[in-house]
Amino acid sequence: MTALAAAHDALRNVDDPEYPGLSIVDLGLVEEIEERDGVVTVGLIPTFSGCPALKMIAADVAEALTERPEIDSCQVEWLPAPVWSTDRLSDLGRQRLARDFTVVLRRKDGTLRCPVCGSDTVRDQSMAGPTRCRSIAWCDSCRNAVEVMR
Ligand SMILES: [Zn+2]
Repeated sequence: MTALAAAHDALRNVDDPEYPGLSIVDLGLVEEIEERDGVVTVGLIPTFSGCPALKMIAADVAEALTERPEIDSCQVEWLPAPVWSTDRLSDLGRQRLARDFTVVLRRKDGTLRCPVCGSDTVRDQSMAGPTRCRSIAWCDSCRNAVEVMR
């Protein structure tokens, strides 16, 4: 396996610390993977700047890469652009966020669809979520609290 293929492979196994079982690839954090003279450089996009998870993700990526015998050394960078949006989520990422973490994605028009029952009766409850990245909303139909990914 080439160093580049090994890097792709390794990144698939790096989970976001906030969403165990969901890889940073499916979350759309990986923007570029390059290899030059045995050094693999990975460019990541933060989902939300200032997230405390960022340091952890970079460390996990570096660890996953250096564990591969094909990769001599690596660099992990956070890129200032492009800006992350929910469009970057893979289909699997979307499904798993909704099903396993009851995370709802805000539509372009600002409305919310309940990830549990699928109704449009989700309303924002407070801006204070588990982390600064997310907020909690409430579904009037199934009476579940859901997390809104901003
Ligand atoms: Zn619901």
